[in-house]
Amino acid sequence: MLAVHHSWSVRGYQAPLAHAPLKSLFELTLDALPDGVLLTDRDRHVIYANPAFAQIWNIPDALMDAGDETAMLAHVGSMLIDPQAFFTEVERVHPTAETLTDELRFVDGRMISRRSVPFLDHHQFAARIWVFTDVTEARSARHDMLTGVKNRRAFNDEFPGFVRCAAPGAWKSVALIDVDNFKKYNDHYGHAAGDQVLRSMGEILRKHLSRADDLLFRIGGEEFLVARYCCDEMEIGEFFERVRLSIEELDIAHHGNAPYGKVTASFGIHLFCGAQEPERVFDLADKALYTAKAAGRNRVAFDLLASQLSPAIQTCGRPS
Ligand code: GH3
Ligand code: MG
Ligand code: MG
Repeated sequence: MLAVHHSWSVRGYQAPLAHAPLKSLFELTLDALPDGVLLTDRDRHVIYANPAFAQIWNIPDALMDAGDETAMLAHVGSMLIDPQAFFTEVERVHPTAETLTDELRFVDGRMISRRSVPFLDHHQFAARIWVFTDVTEARSARHDMLTGVKNRRAFNDEFPGFVRCAAPGAWKSVALIDVDNFKKYNDHYGHAAGDQVLRSMGEILRKHLSRADDLLFRIGGEEFLVARYCCDEMEIGEFFERVRLSIEELDIAHHGNAPYGKVTASFGIHLFCGAQEPERVFDLADKALYTAKAAGRNRVAFDLLASQLSPAIQTCGRPS
């Protein structure tokens, strides 16, 4: 059973937190913080939770006081869009010396930053500190609240830098990704179901784009843009083919999207290297998207094959 204690050191690690003169000062300080703070011992029992923790997670007082682990975890899971990922990460990181920073998407639309650091005593794992901060407001300026990916404003700020940087020796790819026959999807299944498709699109794209320098934006209604460094046309073609396939494999029925009968997306890719002009790069990716749509949708198209690029560009080489 998990026991939630509003005071220090009832379980698990005791010193130096139980040190009498400091105890109330620590506790008062943490109680006053707007960030949710949770301290768990090596068996993952809760040693301390501050009031902001209960507030951020909307945990009723009765549930806090009952200390029923199952009920508490069920409540936490019900708050999250992807509870499985949350619990997996807790399991993975808890006994390690790792520091964790990520963001949680709540079903009520909030974005909560999660940070976690191990508390070591003589180099031994003694406890783990979790800090939860509501970053919804800060994030909403640059993120699309429906899908969680960066918005048009962030695109306007960040895309030119990616396109214009010289990045010697690196190939760069820009892909426009557009859901096929999406208007018909809305017309047939309703706007709320359409929104759910866009959320799934955001999730799939985020999962594939895990490199620190990958850029992903929702640039319009059902249109996303990816900017990514790559080795060559073959590698990037295979990468986006995998993304395309995983959208198809979501297997979301879409009656108006013949002949596929499920939700699909088309991809238009422009591959280049060196410093280019953002408008030109965008137009070339758009041209490739048009090719993919005209050829029957649910496919990946390039505006040009790398072999058709000028010899100067072909010698661009692989990123180190
Ligand atoms: P194509 O395969 O040629 O791309 O056809 P399409 O129907 O996807 O393209 P079109 O541009 O005609 O329609 C896009 C639709 O996307 C129209 C609009 O209703 C829908 N849409 C745009 N933003 C949102 C949104 O935030 N939520 C939902 N549910 N639908 C949206
Ligand atoms: Mg579309
Ligand atoms: Mg479109």
